[in-house]
Amino acid sequence: MDYTKIEGTIFNIQRYSIDDGPGVRTTVFVKGCPLKCKWCSNPESQSMEKQLRYRFTSCKKCGTCVKVCPNGAITMGEDGVIIDREKCQLCGTCVKKCLLEALTFAGEKITVEKAFKTVRRDKDYYDQGGGGCTCSGGEILMQPDFVAGIFRMCRENGIHTNADTCGLGSREALEKIMKYADMFYYDLKHMDPVEHEKGTGVDNKVILENLKVVAESGIPTVIRVPVIPGYNDSDENITALAKTVKEIIPHAPINLLPYHKYGASKYKMLGKEYELEELEPLSQERENRIVEIIKSFGIECKVSK
Ligand code: SF4
Ligand code: SF4
Repeated sequence: MDYTKIEGTIFNIQRYSIDDGPGVRTTVFVKGCPLKCKWCSNPESQSMEKQLRYRFTSCKKCGTCVKVCPNGAITMGEDGVIIDREKCQLCGTCVKKCLLEALTFAGEKITVEKAFKTVRRDKDYYDQGGGGCTCSGGEILMQPDFVAGIFRMCRENGIHTNADTCGLGSREALEKIMKYADMFYYDLKHMDPVEHEKGTGVDNKVILENLKVVAESGIPTVIRVPVIPGYNDSDENITALAKTVKEIIPHAPINLLPYHKYGASKYKMLGKEYELEELEPLSQERENRIVEIIKSFGIECKVSK
């Protein structure tokens, strides 16, 4: 099969991204993730399935969607519409009829070729500022042929590629992507397998094994750590993290991503509950201490805001 015709499921392609690797980038966000992190700021990325999103701040309560839904899945409430997700068949009638785009779908199928067309639009920017294309998620290892296809087209066109992964996937999937990846953003969440499972739904065994594979490849890698107060920010866990990184991939810098609530409203849009509503952000004092521990191992450490 022509690899440019391979289809993937995505929930966004973001141009002019400055947080997903060096320079100005276009980030292709694939849908579907084997982890279920409670702090996930892209809850629409977790399921592979298409999902109906409702943005109540855009809704003018005109009632059109209530009238057109063939399954009686929408009713009008005091604060906007109420969607019965059991009844919804994802037919898309309400999405088409809502002129204010308060109802949208997360999740579309797209070919490698079509995704690359968007990536290629900003090639001049990449060439000027050392940017490129990042594939993120969701989890890229769940759609390795699609992601490798985009990266292959990038390589053939002189565009830098960054593979942003949680590290959980088959060795075969990882190798497919490694073949065309110029760098990795590799997430580590917790060093204790039991705690890892409590926070994400799975232990960290395969993630650490796959990190060794990436390290052996010599592909430049940045370790990224979402820092969640009360979960993985203890001296003990940060020390274990630094030791592990030093042992497996000694030249990789660590990029800390302090917990934020930016994704909380997205849970509401999907009709889901956000479990960490009460969690306070990381204090400056704690952040400084974490950076100090990591640097004491001779590891470069940066904090993303
Ligand atoms: S059609 Fe759109 S604006 Fe009108 S009630 Fe439905 S969601 Fe709100
Ligand atoms: S997608 Fe279709 S079934 Fe679902 S709420 Fe909208 S109109 Fe109803």
